[in-house]
Amino acid sequence: MDFSNLKKFDPEIYGYVMAEKDREMDGLELIPSENLPSLAVLEALGSYPNNKYAEGYPGKRYYGGNEFIDQIEGTAIARAKKLFGAEYVNVQPYSGSPANAAVYLALLEFHDTLMGMRLDMGGHLTHGHKVSYSGKAYNAVQYTVDEKTELINYDEVRKLAHEAKPRMLIAGFSAYPRALDFKQFREIADEVGAYAMADIAHISGLCATGLHPNPLKDGFDVVTTTTHKMLRGPRGAMIMAKPEFGEKIDKAIFPGFQGGPHEHAIAAMAVCFKEALLPDYKKYCQQIVKNAQALADELMKRGYRLVTGGTDNHLMLVDLRSQNLTGLEGEKALEAVGIYCNKNAIPFDPRKPWDPSGIRVGTPVLTTRGMKESEMHEVGRLIDLALKKKDQPAEQKRVAAEVKALCGKFGYYQ
Ligand SMILES: *Cc1c(COP(=O)(O)O)cnc(C)c1O
Repeated sequence: MDFSNLKKFDPEIYGYVMAEKDREMDGLELIPSENLPSLAVLEALGSYPNNKYAEGYPGKRYYGGNEFIDQIEGTAIARAKKLFGAEYVNVQPYSGSPANAAVYLALLEFHDTLMGMRLDMGGHLTHGHKVSYSGKAYNAVQYTVDEKTELINYDEVRKLAHEAKPRMLIAGFSAYPRALDFKQFREIADEVGAYAMADIAHISGLCATGLHPNPLKDGFDVVTTTTHKMLRGPRGAMIMAKPEFGEKIDKAIFPGFQGGPHEHAIAAMAVCFKEALLPDYKKYCQQIVKNAQALADELMKRGYRLVTGGTDNHLMLVDLRSQNLTGLEGEKALEAVGIYCNKNAIPFDPRKPWDPSGIRVGTPVLTTRGMKESEMHEVGRLIDLALKKKDQPAEQKRVAAEVKALCGKFGYYQ
């Protein structure tokens, strides 16, 4: 990309932007919600549709001059429908959290009961946590995982649903390393007369390519996803639903919840959907899962306990109590050598959220960079070494140099 104007006018911000690019290239990025979009996506994102007001929807705008914007948004919608087999799509949500809020606004009344997975069990803030809009405007009931297996116990979800009678049951997570049984969620929602909503922000690519069940095919009423995680698109989100909910959802996004859509992000989404419709994208998603399994195996071989004993998807939760470390200590020790992850609660964590017992790691970014199973074994070794040597500065330096050397073999942005 050409940054000559930025460089000339604002060398300070240019410097930070380039330093961020170098950090991304020189480090092992293991945060499972991140990814590296293609330059084609970034070019669309950093371009002219940013300038346009387009409140409304294709063909029905509140402003003139939307001929090409309508083409952009229409193309994004058509590609998204094809990618997920959706009948209705709204690509205007600014991000995942507003997408979820708009779904609630569309289908629920304030103070209705919604039921989602607890944040510290792997759920997302927007699924009913009390500090979030979803837990303040609605009566949120939260399910957990099973204390022994650390898996969702569908009998327990069913029991809680029959007690609480939610109007909406949410399936989805930010930190759960196993597959979801959407059919069970749909059945439970039917038994209690609830809408079934899935939030596939983390596993969207797996759902689109058939590597994980697709909630739309299992009869879900509404499905949200971000576009900047596994899909490798711009920061943004979309809502897919049964066509009968389309009008309500459109109205909830605009004028209910948002103003002018971010058409530059929507243009970039269209590009990322085109990429995801190629056969290579499925291979990429398969490699993400293979890489996660290789990394999980390496960590377990080295004595780390993984929540549920492994992973079926792109992420794993590492319980650092087995290493006598806290999540925060782990995150910091890894950051010091250029390995990026986030501290994360493990199910029934005895510690507090700002310093929980685990870390969450995932493989989408390293897979985007072209790494395969053999590199994952290497990454596992480097994680282990960085944690073991965290109080030895000279050793740490050596690990940092190894991290940088490994990254140097895998480019992405020039
Ligand atoms: C990331 C995520 C979101 C929120 O996305 P933002 O774009 O950060 O608002 C919503 N739901 C789930 C399950 C997520 O993982």
